[in-house]
Amino acid sequence: MAFIDLTSLGKSFGPTPVVRDFDLALHQGEFVSLLGPSGCGKTTVLRMVAGFETPDSGDIRIEGQSLLRQRASQRQIGMVFQSYALFPNMTVADNVAFGLRVAKLAPAQIDKRVDEMLDMVGLAAMKGRYPYQLSGGQQQRVALARAIAPRPRVLLLDEPLSALDAKIRVALRTEIRTIQRQLGITTLFVTHDQEEALSMSDRIVIMNAGRAEQIGTPEEIYNRPTTRFVAGFIGTLNVIEGQLGTEGGTVLTCAGGRLALPGTFGASPGETLSVAVRPQSLRPAPIDGDGLRGTVRHVEFLGAFTRLHVSCGPNTLLVDCFARDLAANLSVGSQIALTVPPDEVLRLSA
Ligand code: ATP
Repeated sequence: MAFIDLTSLGKSFGPTPVVRDFDLALHQGEFVSLLGPSGCGKTTVLRMVAGFETPDSGDIRIEGQSLLRQRASQRQIGMVFQSYALFPNMTVADNVAFGLRVAKLAPAQIDKRVDEMLDMVGLAAMKGRYPYQLSGGQQQRVALARAIAPRPRVLLLDEPLSALDAKIRVALRTEIRTIQRQLGITTLFVTHDQEEALSMSDRIVIMNAGRAEQIGTPEEIYNRPTTRFVAGFIGTLNVIEGQLGTEGGTVLTCAGGRLALPGTFGASPGETLSVAVRPQSLRPAPIDGDGLRGTVRHVEFLGAFTRLHVSCGPNTLLVDCFARDLAANLSVGSQIALTVPPDEVLRLSA
């Protein structure tokens, strides 16, 4: 049985549906990210789990028991917000102790737990400080300690890293994940940052207009996006549309040329298909050979590799090449042919 079950959740604000028919099951101890563009309903899902919003339809269960009749304060859920939301007039220790005092733990037990939590987030030396005396990263560590101190059943993280600068963000995402694993706490994490979701999650839910568009491990989402939306949202995939042909093997005939496909590609001759190709799967090839043909429009040197922007029919394809694969005379305006190993062409369903 799943630890947390969200079934057919729906929520509208006025006439606008914001979350639609949303299903998700989390296993105990799992770290799951909700990833999607601004306004797709991620925070609303989290707020319904926390008890700050009431779903119009569907259910939220933990270990089989519905939460819908419980107030937020009864749900044993810890939450961390983008804005830290610490109590400004309380010390670090008092912030962390807050939930423990509400739960009426004995003072000695509270002191012990506060020390444990501050040790865990590396802030033992800052117990007596006030939030204004801390950096953003330190404030967010306090917020995390405060959320986990009462040993909640579930941890909800709403873009906790978005307000921090890049270096702290990367450090803190490792710390959050380490602590989450150590405590084995089931976690739902909201982000619009692909890299964050890919690097931290056991599984990712890609949300589009209130729905779960694809759910999978980071590897599945990255390597096998099933729709155009997911392909477009994760990384820099090239989406190419064409007709399936069988002349000389299975091929996709598209503006700009032909792409060889593996096997039958699960489609019938004549069918119109969308496929996705990674920038690093496209290889420059001899101009008189097979493949797609296009014109180099822009060359970006990105250190480890060079990214070509190649116009090919109606599409601009991104092509990542290592220096050794680049013809010396390739520059803006050059004609180029591109090939893809057939098994690196991904089929999209919509
Ligand atoms: P972001 O990444 O920008 O925070 P999100 O995916 O978390 O976006 P939500 O905050 O869930 O999106 O909001 C989804 C939609 O619902 C948005 O269009 C938002 O304006 C709207 N919305 C959210 N809360 C309310 C509310 N209390 N009243 C009216 N509309 C709301």
